[in-house]
Amino acid sequence: MIFKVPRGTQDILPSETWKWQQVESIIKDVSDAFRYKEIRTPIFEQTELFQRLVGETTDVVQKEMYTFTDKGNRSMTLRPEGTAPVVRSFVEHKMFGIPDQPVKLFYVGPMFRYERQQAGRYRQFVQFGAEAIGSADPAIDAEVIALAMNVYERAGLSDLKLVLNSLGDTECRKSHKDALIAHFSPHIAEFCSDCKSRLDLNPLRILDCKVDSENPLIATAPSLTDYLNEDSAAYFEQVKSYLDDLNISYEVDANLVRGLDYYNHTAFEIMSTSEGFGAITTLCGGGRYNGLAEDIGGPSAPGIGFAMSIERLLLAMNAEGKSFDEEPTLDVYIVTLGDDAKRPGFKLLNELRKSGIRSDMDYMDRKMKGQMKSADRLNAEVVVVIGEDEVAENVAMVRNMSDGTQEKIATSELVEKITSSLKR
Ligand code: ATP
Ligand code: MG
Repeated sequence: MIFKVPRGTQDILPSETWKWQQVESIIKDVSDAFRYKEIRTPIFEQTELFQRLVGETTDVVQKEMYTFTDKGNRSMTLRPEGTAPVVRSFVEHKMFGIPDQPVKLFYVGPMFRYERQQAGRYRQFVQFGAEAIGSADPAIDAEVIALAMNVYERAGLSDLKLVLNSLGDTECRKSHKDALIAHFSPHIAEFCSDCKSRLDLNPLRILDCKVDSENPLIATAPSLTDYLNEDSAAYFEQVKSYLDDLNISYEVDANLVRGLDYYNHTAFEIMSTSEGFGAITTLCGGGRYNGLAEDIGGPSAPGIGFAMSIERLLLAMNAEGKSFDEEPTLDVYIVTLGDDAKRPGFKLLNELRKSGIRSDMDYMDRKMKGQMKSADRLNAEVVVVIGEDEVAENVAMVRNMSDGTQEKIATSELVEKITSSLKR
């Protein structure tokens, strides 16, 4: 075999797409219940959009982007995440002018990050994300978290943990940043080269470093919580009390830092606590991003959102032993004997399909026995047999496969009678 699927990507085969479709339909139902409308943005954007919004010092921008120069000599990037494109679209289409604010959007689509492949980490993965843009009401933070939790619950997951933090506003971030620099500077020689460059630019990123995570200075680093000003602390208290109202339990982790720069105030992750889940336990990450729209020339439009990958959701379902609904089977299989029967069979097939009945017939020139076997393998509920006699009499033999009963039915009544005899 010369060609293989690119490293870090996967083919999702028909036995799996059925599961994906079920998860996607849960996502659409739940989003609909929360009045989040679907948005579809392009798979690639100007590189600068991600550099500006995700942040120059993040792993995503520094190491993980699929960036290329197009034939017009523009730098383009396959989207590594969905918030920047959605906010770009919000500003470009002046959605801030829509009377019904906040604007509530969701997306489902592939994201691309050049990462080392491992369980739950791919180079192309599908994210479901939701964004509520235009409101700074702490209740909307709780709503967005509830939306994510609802999707997991509808998928049957129960081993979940919501971890919450507040990153405060620009003012608290500034004083915390100074404290971090003072904390790490004297010992920066012990840290990796990435952390060395993070020290001045974005010391918060050191807390999120995968290389230095065991260094004791990480655990003793000044906590953001201690630097929250009054407004930020009050905001955080309100978010928590709205979550209490919804009976959503959470843990506060003062060291929770998200991998993207645009977050402020509320930051959260939802983890799987299932034993079977393996090393990576984060299912979903999100937070507030007030100021993001302004960063690209829009008006002030405070926002909050999250993203989860469907790959990790499916892994979690697997770890918790959640089963999927049975895949729908075939309604009707048409067995024809001889050339004269094939044409009326083929026409009937078309009629059935036009009425929305899942049906099929043989295209491999199989004998009667082979066709019956196909019908069996495909688990057909009804088999229609058309032979020479049936053609001559203008009828077909309709057999109900679950109880073995059969009935001769006139051609003109076939579609109607078959339709009414089906279970669904
Ligand atoms: P991680 O710490 O696992 O690298 P992250 O902080 O980079 O995650 P986000 O950018 O916040 O993740 O993305 C949100 C969610 O998208 C994650 O919680 C996870 O479910 C999913 N995700 C991120 N990267 C990948 C990937 N490479 N493969 C599959 N899912 C991913
Ligand atoms: Mg990552």
